[in-house]
Amino acid sequence: MHINDAVFLEDLCPKFRLRQWRKSIHKFTGKSCIYCGKPSESIDHVIPQSQGGLSITENCVPACLSCNGDKSDENALYWYRRQKFYDPRRAMAIRAWLEGDLRLAIRLLQWANPNFKVKNKNYLKDESEYKAA
Ligand SMILES: [Zn+2]
Repeated sequence: MHINDAVFLEDLCPKFRLRQWRKSIHKFTGKSCIYCGKPSESIDHVIPQSQGGLSITENCVPACLSCNGDKSDENALYWYRRQKFYDPRRAMAIRAWLEGDLRLAIRLLQWANPNFKVKNKNYLKDESEYKAA
């Protein structure tokens, strides 16, 4: 799909836009939970909405239902540090994600999980082209 078509469809149908957005978030991590690496079944707010966290890509990460439910209303970075499956590379990835550096976040997640495959290669390609320009 051409990028201009996507913008057009988004304007036409906000629900389509939301669905595509949620899909793209899961694709960034190869549909795995950013915290523990299990299949991601939900979108988690790193900074909870109750603490002013926004529903934007930088604050929304793919998470399994177990992590999402257990974390509840806590700040993800504090919560994550106490988990048995804590991995500093994933913690760095979450931080990079929060800062909007998805490219770095994905690289860190790949480092933490060598089996992890990025299915959204177009995104990475687009960004490298953007950086080269
Ligand atoms: Zn999880």
